[in-house]
Amino acid sequence: MTLNQPAKTVEIACLDLEGVLVPEIWINVAHKTGIDALLATTRDIPDYDVLMTQRLRILDEHGLKIGDLQEVIDGLGPLEGALDFLEWLKSEFQVVILSDTFYEFAKPLMRQLGWPTLFCHKLGITPDGRVEAYHLRMPDQKREAVKRFHELKFKVIAAGDSYNDTNMLGEADRGILFCPPQNVIDEFPQFPVATDYEQLRDAFLEARAAIR
Ligand SMILES: [Mg+2]
Repeated sequence: MTLNQPAKTVEIACLDLEGVLVPEIWINVAHKTGIDALLATTRDIPDYDVLMTQRLRILDEHGLKIGDLQEVIDGLGPLEGALDFLEWLKSEFQVVILSDTFYEFAKPLMRQLGWPTLFCHKLGITPDGRVEAYHLRMPDQKREAVKRFHELKFKVIAAGDSYNDTNMLGEADRGILFCPPQNVIDEFPQFPVATDYEQLRDAFLEARAAIR
């Protein structure tokens, strides 16, 4: 073995979490708790800070603490087939999940997924379990993570389901949309679309062949 051979490519697979491996957390918490006010999303309230402040106030009004929420989230479980897909992906790539959720929410689902690497945000929890604040690690963290992986000389293949993934997909060497809404398909025709895990697996393999 010599040290001056051209470096072989190592690819990182960056995956969105909600809508790719697990259900949408807030929407399902709203359904499971019967609190319709928690159904609001950035589509209804575009200012994320206003939306999150409202969500935390609603949790308080209903006396919901982090333990109650984690119990509900634990019951959601990963999407059908997600665990097998993730196991396969980890056997082929270095896998990092890039999500805009919070560690405290994701924890029960990460346990069910075998504790994959997750980059997301944190909640502020009081000693008695009240969710009093949220802390975004940094803005546009999905795209920033891909940039940093490039600086570390990795290639990146990214997959996500929605609008907030498109910066990450665009920054990656290859981007894949997984079960996206039609408006995202229409607006970002440059990304191939997979509608089940078998297609997503094929899309990752095709992407890898294209960038090697
Ligand atoms: Mg998503």
